[in-house]
Amino acid sequence: MSARILDGTKIASEIRAEVAAQAKELALSGVRPGLAVVLVGHNPASEVYVRGKVKSSQEVGLYSEQHTPPESATTEELLALIADLNRRDEIDGILVQLPLPPQVDSKKVLVAVDPAKDVDGFHPMNVGYLSTQRPGLVPCTPAGVMEILKRSGIPVAGQEAVVVGRSDIVGKPVAMLLLNQNATVTVCHSKTRDLPEVCRRADILVAAIGRAGMVTRDYVKPGATVIDVGINKITDRTEFDRFFAGNKKREETFLAKGSTLVGDVHPEVAGIAGAITPVPGGVGPLTIAMLMANTVKAAMLRRGVLVPQ
Ligand code: NDP
Repeated sequence: MSARILDGTKIASEIRAEVAAQAKELALSGVRPGLAVVLVGHNPASEVYVRGKVKSSQEVGLYSEQHTPPESATTEELLALIADLNRRDEIDGILVQLPLPPQVDSKKVLVAVDPAKDVDGFHPMNVGYLSTQRPGLVPCTPAGVMEILKRSGIPVAGQEAVVVGRSDIVGKPVAMLLLNQNATVTVCHSKTRDLPEVCRRADILVAAIGRAGMVTRDYVKPGATVIDVGINKITDRTEFDRFFAGNKKREETFLAKGSTLVGDVHPEVAGIAGAITPVPGGVGPLTIAMLMANTVKAAMLRRGVLVPQ
């Protein structure tokens, strides 16, 4: 048996098309949703992410602007920038790209973002809205996980869901979203006893761990849906062979680029799961798509326009 592959790239492009249509409709009433991205210093990975976010905003017809304070920026300078973005009406979403330099008090900066413009959904106010099922902004990657399930017709209500990982940005919000949709949710972490046994209970298994290929066949109930949030870069040949031995296509890209991406789920799991997200091309593409969706949602919520479910 081979699992059904849940194509995140395709789902993300559907969502972007819907967002573009909503942006067009808002334009009829003179509203152009605006996203401000704050990128401090010159972290190469962050620069790549921010470029992707700005490009995607332009493609779906949102207004976007980038702010690039220097690496030496202080907490006070960033707070002043955030205060200015909070004040400006044409800015609906504010995204502060993490990590911030060590001299900056990241928590103080993030909590300064107006919760109504917090398109990352990290503000404690939005965390509270999520856990009490009030309308608010939901973190992008977890929201993307739920879109994959919904648009793939995978039922959630009444299902056993196991989430491995309890970070504030992925594990906890995914668990809360699953719970809000009436799954029976178990959250696992590094202190969980007999992790494979707990995971084998899952009808829906979400891996958000940050460890290459940790979830192997013995973690998975035959037929389960497996959502792999992990993104791990491997450069070592032995590691490559451990995951992709015999996969000619992967080998070509590995040899050409000197690296490849693997999730937190071992590729062998595709042989036992009922459905699985690939890496790359699974959850990853949803993150930026949901950021676009959140920016439009913020623009609607701020103006009291009804948000479609
Ligand atoms: P964190 O490092 O913040 O959290 C990892 C979680 O995994 C922790 O709760 C930790 O437990 C748990 N964990 C670590 N080792 C084990 C283990 N051996 N057994 C059981 N649990 C373990 O990571 P993030 O949540 O930020 O990210 C998780 C993964 O998702 C990463 O690979 C990251 O790259 C990827 N990611 C992908 C995104 C996307 O767009 N697709 C977006 C964001 C992240 P404990 O709490 O006990 O330490």
